[in-house]
Amino acid sequence: MNTTSTTTGVPAATGPLLVISAHAGDFVWRAGGAIALTAAAGQRAKVVCLSYGERGESARAWREGKSLDEIKTVRRSEAEQAAAALGAEIEFLDAGDYPLLETPELVDRLVHVHREVDPAVVLTHTLADPYNGDHPAAARMAVQARILAQAVGYDAPGEPLGAPPVFFFEPHQPEQCDFKPDTLLDITPVFDRKRKAMECLPAQQHMWDYYTDLAKRRGVQLKRNAGPNLGLPHDCLAEAFVRVYPQTTAVLG
Ligand SMILES: [Zn+2]
Repeated sequence: MNTTSTTTGVPAATGPLLVISAHAGDFVWRAGGAIALTAAAGQRAKVVCLSYGERGESARAWREGKSLDEIKTVRRSEAEQAAAALGAEIEFLDAGDYPLLETPELVDRLVHVHREVDPAVVLTHTLADPYNGDHPAAARMAVQARILAQAVGYDAPGEPLGAPPVFFFEPHQPEQCDFKPDTLLDITPVFDRKRKAMECLPAQQHMWDYYTDLAKRRGVQLKRNAGPNLGLPHDCLAEAFVRVYPQTTAVLG
């Protein structure tokens, strides 16, 4: 694990960061700021898209009469552009969506990714989402892969994983997904990058302002919880997360 300070005005971030996303656009809306912060601090950020969201999150393309292969190509290209805007690597596993099926082979591929990236932080979906079965499926596989990657006896290249913290990123309808944030991340310095990444997804243009507004609301909450003396800028933008495992510390505070 490395922590890097920069002289660019971007705060130190912990990397490498591994983001496991069910569909091609999910990582942008829900974790684009965290990804951009990591990249801006000179750390590695890697996104794994389990599918392109070709069936479940590409309604406009289907209505335009595009074929499945055409839609996958478009969604892949958009996600690549969004990842580039954030400064992240991206890999597509093309496992299919609606439904995204959990398989031992897919979990094994994610174990290999964990061992290769050796992440300091892992981000993925919530384990509950009554609107979208693919998101919890991705989360279950991500958590299971992290667990297996820690096992000395698991047959995959690389060293056994340590204990990188796992965070769930914010779902579209948080209350229904049992999402109660315990971590608010200040993404103000890199929000322009997140906005650029969002604009790489024109089929979901209705989401651009929605997630900009959400960042403002989470930013207000960030300031409220940070207190008045931390020198935060007047207007903050933030992303919300839920920590899966306990934070470890030698000192409370
Ligand atoms: Zn999705």
